[in-house]
Amino acid sequence: MKLLCDQMLGTLTKWLRILGLDTYYATIEMTDDDILQIAKTEQRVLISRDKQLIQRAKKEQLPYIAIQTTNLDEQLKAVLNHVSFNESSILSRCTICNTVLESIEKHIVKDKVPPRIFEQHDTFWFCKSCGRVYWMGTHYEHMKNKLQKLKQMK
Ligand SMILES: [Zn+2]
Repeated sequence: MKLLCDQMLGTLTKWLRILGLDTYYATIEMTDDDILQIAKTEQRVLISRDKQLIQRAKKEQLPYIAIQTTNLDEQLKAVLNHVSFNESSILSRCTICNTVLESIEKHIVKDKVPPRIFEQHDTFWFCKSCGRVYWMGTHYEHMKNKLQKLKQMK
């Protein structure tokens, strides 16, 4: 299931991408028409806090998830009530640009990551669009903790 977050949901977008979910993030220049058009043509579920935008999606019979809160955990919970993800997909996608990550040999990242990280980790991934390098570090640990917490939330 592919997703599309409105401009107010930048942090949520980042966390959905950490989960490995294909999440388009609407840019500030995009109008409601643009957003609905992308939801339609790319068959993405609209995730929004904008009541008007949700009303329009409803009218056009597009799938949507209405977000009612500014609390990140509650936002994530609301999305995960409708969208399933695979734990093995955590950290498979760039949090900055949504590109699927590719594995990269350790020696290649030597100058691209802090020395301590290079020593502690053997597996690295990179984003071929923006060049960012990833490892099973803080994002991964935060996500695991957050998922535990979300499981306990009502
Ligand atoms: Zn990237």
